[in-house]
Amino acid sequence: MMMATKKGPGPGGGGAGGKAEAEAASEVWCRRVRELGGSSQAGNRHCFECAQRGVTYVDITVGSFVCTACSGLLRGLNPPHRVKSISMTTFTEPEVLFLQSRGNEVCRKIWLGLFDARTSIVPDSRDPQKVKEFLQEKYEKKRW
Ligand SMILES: [Zn+2]
Repeated sequence: MMMATKKGPGPGGGGAGGKAEAEAASEVWCRRVRELGGSSQAGNRHCFECAQRGVTYVDITVGSFVCTACSGLLRGLNPPHRVKSISMTTFTEPEVLFLQSRGNEVCRKIWLGLFDARTSIVPDSRDPQKVKEFLQEKYEKKRW
């Protein structure tokens, strides 16, 4: 006995409301953010703050890709940065376009343009206090 393959008329859709369309669009933007944090731009694969591999959050304030630990530190800055989880949140078009135009490479030029590795050191990612001080120098005092 053969199993009859189901070849119905298909879901058909029909009457897709504006809300469904908006949800579909936000899904597209979320995927775009994941792509940005993935392979498309090499600089975004490592945390912008501590250079740790694997990014899980984005800093909407400056447009960078960061790790979980640093996202918490960025939230604690004064004024706090807006961070969003790449996989848990939905993104709007302006946010994604902003991230697309920034990314870690561009942020490096903005926030670390004057950074000199000979006189300043990037903190060890295992030392949260050091990383926090580094972030305060970077964003609150705009040292570099
Ligand atoms: Zn980090």
